[in-house]
Amino acid sequence: HAARRAYPAQAIVDLAAIRDNMRHLVGVVGESSGTTEVMGVVKADAYGHGLVPVALAALAGGATWLGTAQAREALLLRAAGIGPDRAHILTWVNNPLCVPYGELIANSIDLSVATLTAVERIADAARATGLTARVHVKVDTGFGRNGFTLEQLPEAIAALRPLIDEGVLDVVGQWSHLAVADAPQDAGFVHETDMQIERFERFTSELRAGGIDPRVRHLANTAATLTRPQIHYDLVRPGIALYGYEADPAMGTPGDFGLTPAMTLQAQLSSVKDVPAGSGLSYGRVYLTGERTSVAIVPVGYADGIHRSASGFDEAGARHEYKPGGPLRVDTAYGPKLMRVSGRVCMDQFIIDLHGSAQELGVHIGDTVRLFGPGAGEAAAEPTADDWARAADTISYEIFTCLRNRVPRLYL
Ligand code: PLP
Repeated sequence: HAARRAYPAQAIVDLAAIRDNMRHLVGVVGESSGTTEVMGVVKADAYGHGLVPVALAALAGGATWLGTAQAREALLLRAAGIGPDRAHILTWVNNPLCVPYGELIANSIDLSVATLTAVERIADAARATGLTARVHVKVDTGFGRNGFTLEQLPEAIAALRPLIDEGVLDVVGQWSHLAVADAPQDAGFVHETDMQIERFERFTSELRAGGIDPRVRHLANTAATLTRPQIHYDLVRPGIALYGYEADPAMGTPGDFGLTPAMTLQAQLSSVKDVPAGSGLSYGRVYLTGERTSVAIVPVGYADGIHRSASGFDEAGARHEYKPGGPLRVDTAYGPKLMRVSGRVCMDQFIIDLHGSAQELGVHIGDTVRLFGPGAGEAAAEPTADDWARAADTISYEIFTCLRNRVPRLYL
């Protein structure tokens, strides 16, 4: 409650929803195999939801692995008391030239290796600590980003083999990332994913032929976890599903996949006033009120992480084009009402045209505005992060991860 009073906007995270989304994912993989484990991908501050609280909720839901891009976040999880007895942690996007490998190895954090430089650095750190480093060999099956290519593999095997024999490295995993698994309705993309799977199998054969047989093979992100049971392998790595969304809204609603969106972003109206017809709203006058109306201010802007691309234009405005602004729900005295960002999103606030008299609509300063929330099951349509993503021409992932620390995360 103190945070509610102190900050103009709040991101409320429902940890029970996170736990239940994980429970659901554990159930999904349980149907395809009795042995597949689930990693909660908690990189980027758990997609903006808060690293440690989300990690604990994911573990409560049955995750046995946690994944982060950056080393720092993996170390934070261990420092928060999530020991190796509670969860394996894998970290991957690390510039091998500046990663604290010794500290990671000492904290039993699994490391991705995607370059020969990383192999060398990890081996040096393992020798210095006197411990065996647990590594996952990343292979590039078609994403074109991290990972050894098939062409590079013989050299990688030649570098890894003696280190395994020396007891410096334990090759725990073999892994790769899918480029287009989030479009199962597109035949071309389905084919590309099939090709990636084929290449993944080929990498496995080549590694085995080279005397390396990783115990934990993993490839599936959210989309593949939900739609491709045949590639669950030993471990799946869902991220966005943990937060209650599917990778691509074209796949269906979260409810269709048994998921519940965990974050609600809300604020309170900071001003309500009447303006005449033809009033320009916000920078650039890209929105002009059509008739006498009331306008209200929502005190969050792009410095809070609200995308400026979710600004609303109307044909009467300076750009003479209609573009619907980000949607929101105002809780008026007479019930919830759907409104939109009207004019440009500013640094710290944006304006909404109420399309009527605030007095008649029952809108007052202090009223709660929900930018997005779970959506389904509400009396009036409540926007979701997918609706915001559409208005801002982006994806829900970016809506969450752009939210700044000016917006406190409060936990249910
Ligand atoms: N695995 C890796 C390597 C990733 O980088 C990510 C996120 O981009 C994920 C898994 C999770 O992806 P998603 O959020 O689509 O499930």
